Amino acid sequence: MVAPRRNTPGHAMLDIHRIPVLQDNYVWLVHDAATSATAVVDPAVAEPVEAALRQKGWRLTHILNTHHHGDHTGANLALKAAHGCTIVGPAADRARIPGIDVTVADGDRYRLGEAEAEVFDVPGHTRGHIAYWFADDQALFCGDTLFAMGCGRLFEGTPAQMWRSLGKLKGLPAATRVFCAHEYTQSNARFALTVDGGNRALVERAAEVDALRARGQPTVPSTIGLERATNPFLRADDPAVAAAVGLSGHNPVEVFAEVRRRKDSF
Ligand code: ZN
Ligand code: FE
Repeated sequence: MVAPRRNTPGHAMLDIHRIPVLQDNYVWLVHDAATSATAVVDPAVAEPVEAALRQKGWRLTHILNTHHHGDHTGANLALKAAHGCTIVGPAADRARIPGIDVTVADGDRYRLGEAEAEVFDVPGHTRGHIAYWFADDQALFCGDTLFAMGCGRLFEGTPAQMWRSLGKLKGLPAATRVFCAHEYTQSNARFALTVDGGNRALVERAAEVDALRARGQPTVPSTIGLERATNPFLRADDPAVAAAVGLSGHNPVEVFAEVRRRKDSF
């Protein structure tokens, strides 16, 4: 008998499991039941990943890294030693990804079992940052580029680069789930209200986030639709945000740069 295949376009295949680690990091396990392929996205530390694998009964086959920072690659070598898994990461940053086996870059497709990710180069937070988009599963793993109502600090990139990177993610389907790497949502919302307080969708979402956090619940994943409506870093081309930072009529990159500058000292 031939095993049923589930590679019909548009069919969700992946089982995605959250592992909260350190202060506020989220590490994600991504499992394709059809083939048993299992990836961990941005493993900061090994032991919580091992515990989650044991609990789920999954065997680690891949590490997907979004960028080189230690809270995203810290367990690469330990997990590779324990599981012999394949490490996938940004071509532009191959020298800074411990144990990297496979490099990917903008427009590349990478298969995880029967699922497939499209890769985007999204420089800004770091110069080699990438994101993985599993279109059929409506799942985006964007590391520290796009957060719920926020974006990553510009450690190695310019505002123009980051605005362009965010633009690639902003255009994805509204239902796309945004699996970012940190639970920064509540403080991001507080800042967002200072530059977009007239945005009813933002005000409502901020209240929902406060309620979730008061119950100790996660606010991630978000969705691209929600981010388009409420994330001030995606709304730098909106006249209301430009006006709020005193830059009416200025181009979106200037507005984005000013919003980012204010957030850095918030
Ligand atoms: Zn980072
Ligand atoms: Fe991080």
